[in-house]
Amino acid sequence: MTFTIIFLIAFIASFGMRHWLAQRQIRHVFQHRDSVPTEFSSKVTLAEHQKAADYTIAKLRLGVIENGVSAIILIAFTLLGGLEILNLSLLQLLGEGVAQQIALLVSIVLISGVIDLPFSWYKQFYLEEQFGFNRMTKKLFFSDMFKGIAVGGAIGIPLLWIVLTLMLKAGDLWWIWAWAALSIFSLLMQWIFPTLIAPLFNKFEALEEGPLKNQIEALLARCDFASQGLFVMDGSKRSAHGNAFFAGMGKAKRIVFFDTLIEKLNPGEVEAVLAHELGHFKCKHIRKRLIVSFALSFVTFALLGWISKQVWFYTDLGVMPNLNGYNGGLALALFMLVSPVFSFFLTPLGSLASRKHEYEADNFAADKSSAQDLISALVKLYQDNASTLTPDPIYTAFYSSHPPAPLRIANLARHR
Ligand SMILES: [Zn+2]
Repeated sequence: MTFTIIFLIAFIASFGMRHWLAQRQIRHVFQHRDSVPTEFSSKVTLAEHQKAADYTIAKLRLGVIENGVSAIILIAFTLLGGLEILNLSLLQLLGEGVAQQIALLVSIVLISGVIDLPFSWYKQFYLEEQFGFNRMTKKLFFSDMFKGIAVGGAIGIPLLWIVLTLMLKAGDLWWIWAWAALSIFSLLMQWIFPTLIAPLFNKFEALEEGPLKNQIEALLARCDFASQGLFVMDGSKRSAHGNAFFAGMGKAKRIVFFDTLIEKLNPGEVEAVLAHELGHFKCKHIRKRLIVSFALSFVTFALLGWISKQVWFYTDLGVMPNLNGYNGGLALALFMLVSPVFSFFLTPLGSLASRKHEYEADNFAADKSSAQDLISALVKLYQDNASTLTPDPIYTAFYSSHPPAPLRIANLARHR
């Protein structure tokens, strides 16, 4: 019973807090809807500012509904016995064993996916469409979905099999082996993802010869950065939002620009955006994030190793453990469902570290490229993405991976 109460407190606190933060942000953005912040008044029109406010609020309202639905689903799976029913029916159908446990986890993922489907559909074809950002066809939506399921299954099911077999056969310290296996896998993905998986969803073409390419190569030389090529990705087939990123590690690093980014920004601005991304690399943010994620997953697996042996973990969350030791699937399922309720409270720490990294990358870009170009690129991107320029401070502190626009631009302006 004790754990039921702890779970319920964390559940109410986390879903309540999500709701409260979203409402704060909606109110704050709405209150600042009617005037462009002075530092942007020469660059952003009132109409653009209001579009950003309306878009931000529309996304938040959808998020509030999704938050409510996922709260209901979590309770339905756990305390209301959904997982127990699913587990028993699959036991009847498949008998005991690793196959039944895989089926249990796959069913949960599929059920959550089906519930999520109307939300993704609405978001893409109503919300994004209404604000002029959607470029995706319905055919592409479904082909993405089926490809996603196929790739997820082809990678996820063998991984699950490895973890469940370790749980069953590797003794008390199975979790160290499982952690090691998943860590090696995630390093492998850094190489597999850009070369084998991303091309299933997008076309990557080498950046064409010309002034932009020369300018970028000069920047790479200035920053002493070796990459395995510059690519342009057809992001425009899904969305009008623009971006630039790196993929891969070590010698396999690729630099990828969304075609939408190159359309919207002039070569100097593209260079500044890339310099920011190079900053993340040169300030070792990518390596730090990887190390932190390995450390966090080590702690998570240690916790899972211990908690999966506690009978109360199952009974207090509405399931009966199997008596013969085939509890790996149930433990993973419960852990997957319940742990976000607790880990939610760590969100501000991750956001804080991320915002610090963003300033460092901006400073790097100001140093190696141009603060002025990065400012004008950011203003264009805020406009094009209809990002709000007036976020609520508490919402930002909790969630935002990037500093709010006015602070970020003020920091860059100091470099001029
Ligand atoms: Zn960044």
